[in-house]
Amino acid sequence: MILTPHILIGSLIGSKTKKPFLIIILGILSHIFLDYIQHWDYDISGIVNPSSDFKYFLICLLKIFLDVFIGFLIVFFISNKKGYLNKKHLPFIAFGIIFAVFPDLILFVLYMFNLQTIFEQYLLFHQKFLHTRAYSGFGFWGVFNQIIASMIFISAFFIKIKKRTKTSSFSKIK
Ligand SMILES: [Zn+2]
Repeated sequence: MILTPHILIGSLIGSKTKKPFLIIILGILSHIFLDYIQHWDYDISGIVNPSSDFKYFLICLLKIFLDVFIGFLIVFFISNKKGYLNKKHLPFIAFGIIFAVFPDLILFVLYMFNLQTIFEQYLLFHQKFLHTRAYSGFGFWGVFNQIIASMIFISAFFIKIKKRTKTSSFSKIK
């Protein structure tokens, strides 16, 4: 998927749990899960071979930047509304985002530093198994399901699960 839904679910994970190990596991699993859903992706083939077309390389970087920017902007608005803009919450939210985009981050580094041949197995898994499914003519629905996924993650921030405690049920009887 594009980075915005990954960023949203990462921040959601970081807002719900403060256990670093759990954040890492859930973050990476969320990435695999979201990428496995058939989706549309914008073309970033320009970062694979920067020297061949520098202008297109910059355009691809700009696309990634905009995607990350939109994701961060939404997280900022949610955090502002939920009162997460503080030391108690932000580090975990940032941690969640990092690990939710981590598999793509590795991909980016591999391409940027031309390390594709060394990590072929990883590329095969991420690009061919997860991402290439995206290019099978999945236009409208591939965009639509990312919007739906993003909306689910945003609303999950605001859903309050009522904890039914013994005291509250007793007080109801009274
Ligand atoms: Zn990915």
